[in-house]
Amino acid sequence: MFGTSCRVERITFYPLKSGAGVPVETARLEAEGLAGDRRMMVVDETGDCLTARKAPRLMQIRTHVDGDEVILAAPGMSPLVFSRCHLDVARNVSIWGDDVVALDAGEEVHQWLTRFLDRSCRMVLKGAITHRPLAIGPGGTVSFADTAPLLLTNFASLADINRYLDLEVEMERFRPNLVVSGMPAFDEDGWRYVRIGNVEFEAIGACDRCVMTTLDPATGEARPDHEPLAMLGRQRRGEDGKAYFGQFLVPRTLGRLHVGDKVEVLSRKPAITILPGSAQPVVRLPSTGTGSALAALRGSHERQLHCVAIIDEAAGFRTFRFAAEPGHAVDYKPGQFITLLLDLDGETVRRNYTISSSPSRPHYISVTVKRVGGGRVSNWLHNTLKVGDRIRSLGPNGRFHLAAAGAAERLLLLSAGSGITPMMAMLRFIADTNLPLDVCFHHSARSVEDIAFLHELLSIRKQMGDRLKLYWNLTGGDAAAQADALAGKLEGSEHGALALAGRLDAAVVQAVCPDLAERAVLCCGPDGFRTKAREIYEGWSPEPEFPFLEETFGPDRAAEPLPEIGAYQVSFVQSGKSVDGSGTVTLLELARKVGVVLPSDCEAGICGSCRCKVVSGEWRVAANAADPDRAVLSQAEKDEGYVLACSTSPIGDVCVEA
Ligand SMILES: Cc1cc2nc3c(=O)[nH]c(=O)nc-3n(C[C@H](O)[C@H](O)[C@H](O)COP(=O)(O)OP(=O)(O)OC[C@H]3O[C@@H](n4cnc5c(N)ncnc54)[C@H](O)[C@@H]3O)c2cc1C
Repeated sequence: MFGTSCRVERITFYPLKSGAGVPVETARLEAEGLAGDRRMMVVDETGDCLTARKAPRLMQIRTHVDGDEVILAAPGMSPLVFSRCHLDVARNVSIWGDDVVALDAGEEVHQWLTRFLDRSCRMVLKGAITHRPLAIGPGGTVSFADTAPLLLTNFASLADINRYLDLEVEMERFRPNLVVSGMPAFDEDGWRYVRIGNVEFEAIGACDRCVMTTLDPATGEARPDHEPLAMLGRQRRGEDGKAYFGQFLVPRTLGRLHVGDKVEVLSRKPAITILPGSAQPVVRLPSTGTGSALAALRGSHERQLHCVAIIDEAAGFRTFRFAAEPGHAVDYKPGQFITLLLDLDGETVRRNYTISSSPSRPHYISVTVKRVGGGRVSNWLHNTLKVGDRIRSLGPNGRFHLAAAGAAERLLLLSAGSGITPMMAMLRFIADTNLPLDVCFHHSARSVEDIAFLHELLSIRKQMGDRLKLYWNLTGGDAAAQADALAGKLEGSEHGALALAGRLDAAVVQAVCPDLAERAVLCCGPDGFRTKAREIYEGWSPEPEFPFLEETFGPDRAAEPLPEIGAYQVSFVQSGKSVDGSGTVTLLELARKVGVVLPSDCEAGICGSCRCKVVSGEWRVAANAADPDRAVLSQAEKDEGYVLACSTSPIGDVCVEA
């Protein structure tokens, strides 16, 4: 259908399930897949198949079959040679719930694997007694592969998903047997029958992807940003919530496959429904571009949001749900914020709000806003914004998001008050995309009335099971009575949800999260709360392995009185303009006064879009800076004199390169 340019580019087989792939120029096809593909696997002590999801070093094991001999090799290990000829111990094992009988590879292999993987395990091989029926498609049998005899992927599909990734991924991550080229991206989703060389196949369905895709195919090391799985969850999500990439094939005839074989689509079927994606293609800067310049480019995208629902979550705490303009879905990381631009009384007022919804549900974005006494914007949103209204927004921005937790597989989400919003975004995302993370959620609220998202959290807990534990500390008036009242509401829900009385302290953390040292901490709440949490983390023994990440919604710090500042002059060198100022005024405000246009988004010192260079003069970080450490600037940038104009105040004459 697409001519002779559609061809097989690569053939790979994986002798050991989850082990290193072996690229070949030609391979014989058997009913169960490529000859020699996944005919061996490692099982744990109970006989369950062990994959790189649990034992990532499996990916480093290279397996070579030479006649009756099998050779295992791995970094730091002497190669082990064993014969597969006289194996006579049968073992009951299981692969994803399928019970099969396989042949045990013996004690020597058991010792070798146990040493390399640092856990007790055995190897089994497929023998004449091993029979595993194919659970999907037209019937037949399958080897120790997860689902089907063969997996096919398409280079054009890879190129398409790489458009959405800062750091592109290689095809090896998807562990395909066949890789084809010459057809449009995701054409394979709609195949029914296909001929490759002289062999015919039935395409039995798209492959739902898991955490294996986040592992480096050479080392088994997990990518800290959970990519490409996180992006597939946003861009290639089916109606069942799974992320799809690649097509399973079952042979209808047998024969030999070669690199270069022509691929002919014989008939088609409706492709799997993929929900509209929310990811935005990455802006690729020339190699000299800095990370913060990239953030600036991305951050300054203004969009219209259309309010489609308003939901009361708790006392004075409301969710505003918006639909983006068609074709302008918002691409964000769970935990990031947007900046709302409101035209109030003839001036544009901006405030930042964390996106409380998850990018895995890309049709809408929500913010959840706490009414602040005397607050201009929070009260306007609560009192005036109606379903049907449109408002402007910038962003998303922010460094406080799930991927920032790095390689940690366990998280402590620690929040107080409205600081729960990024935690909801992260939890919703983890549950939706089934990220293999273990989460301890702890939230401090004054009273039961202030508790938001209770039922949703309990239902996420049901979905995630033991991988999620939920704790609340009630801190207000009669804390014990409040905790009792919440405990009453939790009654009947499963274990793993608990109400406690009093404020967060080391004893509470010890009780709810004794393994803090193995968790990345994501903390959001008022200054006092975060300071306490940081103290507990810093004083923890043994020393925590993963970072403590925090976000402030401000502006506790703004209340601190600042020393008086006298008069000064600010010169903008490139524009040739200058302005006189006095007191605490930001460089951005001064630039606006004289018509010097600087890009800006969050205006809280987080997004980095107003980054500019101070050539000379004295300044200080303004009190409105949500991140006084200015982590969005690299140390090199800081050393060169770069500042964030929105949160930098001159304290004397200053010269700016703008
Ligand atoms: C990155 C980021 C994410 C944020 N996400 C959320 C969110 O998800 N939900 C949410 O409700 N808010 C969030 N905020 C806070 C939000 O931006 C506003 O600051 C808040 O809604 C108050 O704005 P306002 O116009 O009503 O009050 P303002 O008119 O700015 O202030 C009125 C008075 O309230 C005090 N005040 C202002 N903000 C706060 C605050 N957060 N807590 C206590 N006192 C305050 C001020 O000192 C002042 O005295 C976030 C802030 C940041 C920087």
